[in-house]
Amino acid sequence: MSAPNKSYDPVEVEALKPEEIERMRDEALAAFAAAGDLDALHEAKVAHTGPASPLALANREIGALPPHAKAEAGKRVGQARGAVNKALAARQAELEAERDARVLVEEAVDVTLPYDRVPAGARHPLTTLMERIEDVFVGMGYEVAEGPEVESEWLNFDALNIAVDHPARGEQDTFFVADAEGRSGSGVVLRTHTSPVQVRSMLDREPPLYVICPGRVYRTDELDATHTPVFHQVELLAVDEGLTMADLKGTLDHMVQALFGGEGMKTRLRPNFFPFTEPSAEMDMVCYVCRGESVGNPERPCRTCSSEGWIELGGCGMVNPKVLTACGVDPEKYSGFAFGFGIERMLMFRHNVEDMRDMVEGDVRFTRPFGMEI
Ligand SMILES: [Zn+2]
Repeated sequence: MSAPNKSYDPVEVEALKPEEIERMRDEALAAFAAAGDLDALHEAKVAHTGPASPLALANREIGALPPHAKAEAGKRVGQARGAVNKALAARQAELEAERDARVLVEEAVDVTLPYDRVPAGARHPLTTLMERIEDVFVGMGYEVAEGPEVESEWLNFDALNIAVDHPARGEQDTFFVADAEGRSGSGVVLRTHTSPVQVRSMLDREPPLYVICPGRVYRTDELDATHTPVFHQVELLAVDEGLTMADLKGTLDHMVQALFGGEGMKTRLRPNFFPFTEPSAEMDMVCYVCRGESVGNPERPCRTCSSEGWIELGGCGMVNPKVLTACGVDPEKYSGFAFGFGIERMLMFRHNVEDMRDMVEGDVRFTRPFGMEI
């Protein structure tokens, strides 16, 4: 381009020659036609209509022309720019229409698609297992009883014949709740078992009494693969006239048959000691995988029971007459049996869960495989 200069005939300015203007216009039209999308068109627009475009630069040359040549050159450049702008607008509209049509196809919402694509959650296996156990006992005529998790020491310990100096009351095991001023000795604890619900049931009503008490309990354990400070128990209590260990044994046999299925499921009792039952027993059930056939049979080892044939399930016994008395039940007239076990432990061996932390961390990848269970 030439700068204004009076030393040559301005009519001869190269950039304003008709064929030059035509060439600039045609290049612009070709560039617009070649632009395949709006981004490319924007680039072509800047190159051919922007302040540094050939036509804009040519336009600036007009000012240097003598008056008689200005009109002619101005008309020529103006017509070319008009044609370029018109072509640009047309191509712009064309490409926008194409884009809109494409968006309509690509982003279309198919209202006929199924609407439930959000992955369904799953109930926690502790909940489903606990409800399954409840169902077994409700089927035998038991009621489900619940109670507070923050409990008085008397209901959690004393009423159950657990003396003040009993190790279970020590600070190694029990969460003691401070009073409103933050002092200890409030007489309130986080319940260490669901047994206080049994006490409440006996205090609330007259025998015969058949209750199952599921719920959350607390002990001062660190969370690791086999311990958790918060876990779940199910306890059952029956108080009636003439109940014996035979009734307890029959109830336990029925429970393991209902929960683990099939013929040959049975239990055995081993003598033990608990303050709240007398006599007391540790209850084992026959291994539900090998049914005891792995014992002394090295060719058929069983991982579930370590080839011992039995799996320890929980503690049980006849309710101690002292507990009946403390709860206002006449031990001369009534007898009772009780049984309790941990749900986490049952879930671990029933479903081969190896780490207790999986049960409390809330990862859906753990719960989802249990989601089919209802
Ligand atoms: Zn086994």
